[in-house]
Amino acid sequence: MNVLRDEGYETVRERIMKLLLDNKGEFFTAYQIIALLGLDLKPRDIYRHLEHIAKTIRRRSGGRLVLVMKPPICLNCGYVFKDLDKPRKPSKCPRCHSQRISDPEFAIIEK
Ligand SMILES: [Zn+2]
Repeated sequence: MNVLRDEGYETVRERIMKLLLDNKGEFFTAYQIIALLGLDLKPRDIYRHLEHIAKTIRRRSGGRLVLVMKPPICLNCGYVFKDLDKPRKPSKCPRCHSQRISDPEFAIIEK
């Protein structure tokens, strides 16, 4: 049985990874990634892809490259969400309850 393959096809995940690899050391928010790649996605979709990209990039590079996140910050009181276990944007500050939270930013860097 013949299976047709689309040779030029890249998954969204591959495209996000390529964007970060082509711009190593440069930080992007989910909104910037969506705009730059013209994606019809929500930030939470991007965060889900980034979770997988973090594992893939580490494995493919043998640990030489890592995906890092600049954590979100409360724009009202300066609280830094540095204990996040995965990429996301919290909706509320635990200290002052403000909802003005900066977007997390992501980059691939060489260790
Ligand atoms: Zn706050």
